[in-house]
Amino acid sequence: MDQALNQRVDAFIEQNREQILKDIAALVAIDSVESAPAEGAPFGPGAKAALDKTLEIAAGMGLATRNCENYLGYAELPGKEADKYLATICHVDVVPAGNGWTGDPFAMRVQEGWLLGRGVSDDKGPMILTLYALKFLKEEGTELRYPIRALAGANEETGMKDVEYYLEHYAAPVFCFTPDAEFPVCNGEKGHFNGKLVSPVCNGMIRSFEGGVANNAVPDQASALVACDIARLSNAPNITLEPEGDWVRVRGWGRSGHAASPAGTLNAIGLVADYLLANNLCNEAERAYLEALHKLHSSTAGEGLGIACADGPFGPLTIIGGRIYMEEGRMVQTMDSRFPTCTSGEVISAAIREAIGSGASLEDVQAGEPFYIEADTPAIRACIDTYNEVTGENATPFTMGGGTYARHFPYAVSFGPEHNDMVLPEFGGPMHGANEAAPIDKLLEALKIYILALLRLEQLDF
Ligand SMILES: [Zn+2]
Repeated sequence: MDQALNQRVDAFIEQNREQILKDIAALVAIDSVESAPAEGAPFGPGAKAALDKTLEIAAGMGLATRNCENYLGYAELPGKEADKYLATICHVDVVPAGNGWTGDPFAMRVQEGWLLGRGVSDDKGPMILTLYALKFLKEEGTELRYPIRALAGANEETGMKDVEYYLEHYAAPVFCFTPDAEFPVCNGEKGHFNGKLVSPVCNGMIRSFEGGVANNAVPDQASALVACDIARLSNAPNITLEPEGDWVRVRGWGRSGHAASPAGTLNAIGLVADYLLANNLCNEAERAYLEALHKLHSSTAGEGLGIACADGPFGPLTIIGGRIYMEEGRMVQTMDSRFPTCTSGEVISAAIREAIGSGASLEDVQAGEPFYIEADTPAIRACIDTYNEVTGENATPFTMGGGTYARHFPYAVSFGPEHNDMVLPEFGGPMHGANEAAPIDKLLEALKIYILALLRLEQLDF
């Protein structure tokens, strides 16, 4: 590593530390959850205000900025090869605050070296870091070969229509990294498949069936209300029975977890469905539907539905049923699958239809193919080598079931800034959770990694 450069980066970060935190706080203060579109605000006024604020902060650093019709915006440093450019991309929209906060989610707090507030880690903190990376290069007076854009998206959390618009109307970068996941470098994301298993109108014993809070999470609670006499029912593990009027509420108690990594979870919907089957609490149509549910819930590897497979870069397919609810007398079970390269959305759909027969219908299917870039390419090596140099680690790229902006670009990876071995303090929470927390020292280290990685990427031939 160039020691003089190293010291200049450290000094820059030290000098700008307070302002970096203030700028993150200014973005956190804007509630930028997607809302109904308004004039000049395709993702609602909150997302637009956060985008405007980002570009205002960038302009204050003397960077050129552009607002791409309020879908996305960027700050840019010029370079000699103006027909090509490098990019970073973060997002300034957030998920809703939700419950359980110990302070105002939109008033950033600092506690024992941690930032707390909605978006400090996902992804407003990283957004500000990428602006400061450009600020460093500008103040350094670095003559760039490729222009560098710090892209700011306004719709990552709810559909990524920002980047869709951008790539339709603007040329793609020659290489792009997105600080919106974990270090070191993620060079592959599984394909994703979503659909619903819908029952016919059964007019049987099941009066209601509900469970789960999100399509992408394994539920720890579910229950069905069944028309039967509690005296004829027997106990079962992880099941409780409660009389409710003349009927019985059958409750399942499982273990929750994320759809992308369901190992160790226990799906409460599956527990209830199996109990209803075992105790014959169904008519014929309900039985056929419950058997389809059993096939879904019996294996998070998709064995019951005949869709299990695994490959080298990604490992096994996963599938979970996140929510079940009633709609116009039908039971609706959502499904979320993350799949490797050995299958496809069409193959999965066909196998599920075959497995469920006439017991359920498969509806609302949406699928996206896996995204994978060879790890041993110059740009990805530039990222991972920089990470290892700064941290002293010997990390290698990884793949995951989650999805980021990277999959939309021709040549892109996600690159930090989270660390999966990070232990949260008891007052802090994860991304998307209450009391979302980010450690200040790790954020500032990430800024150093981004500056040095961009300098290294500038040396490459694209
Ligand atoms: Zn994010």
